[in-house]
Amino acid sequence: MREDEIVRVKEKWNDKDRYIAPLLTGLQSTLKNFFSKNLTVEYPDERREVSDSWRGLHELVRDGNDNLLCVGCGLCASICPAEAISLVPYEDEEGNRYPEEFVIDELRCIFCGFCQEICPRGALRMSKVYDFVDYERKDFLFDLEKLRDPQRFQYRENKTKLRKLLG
Ligand code: SF4
Ligand code: SF4
Repeated sequence: MREDEIVRVKEKWNDKDRYIAPLLTGLQSTLKNFFSKNLTVEYPDERREVSDSWRGLHELVRDGNDNLLCVGCGLCASICPAEAISLVPYEDEEGNRYPEEFVIDELRCIFCGFCQEICPRGALRMSKVYDFVDYERKDFLFDLEKLRDPQRFQYRENKTKLRKLLG
């Protein structure tokens, strides 16, 4: 392009339509939001309450005596579209049934909630824990012990451990 083809536009800094009006609009918006209620929370120190129908990490429900309600019928494993549940049922001499082993692979799970819905005993539910984090795949295999109390694994509880790992 030749020099004489270049059109140079000179703008005044105090052009009211180009600079002052948008600046005032921006300031107005800033001031309005500065004094309004925060929409964000300081996660993970603050957490939003999620809906009761939230589908987070699984939990095996216990009765008042700390016994699992699960009778190891296997319905949850059979309905699971992701084949994320495996269990070994056991029956004692008095005919009581319970799972000897129960593992849910939380990385395979698609959190559809079918397992919770089909359970005839209400023994398996999906908790509100939505932010379990870890570094190894094996840690996402939730066994009987972990499934008893998934609340222990939400991010807030793991924070110290993670900070240590991250240095
Ligand atoms: S929520 Fe769905 S995918 Fe996850 S374990 Fe239950 S049935 Fe399987
Ligand atoms: S959690 Fe429910 S559906 Fe699954 S094995 Fe136990 S009793 Fe059966």
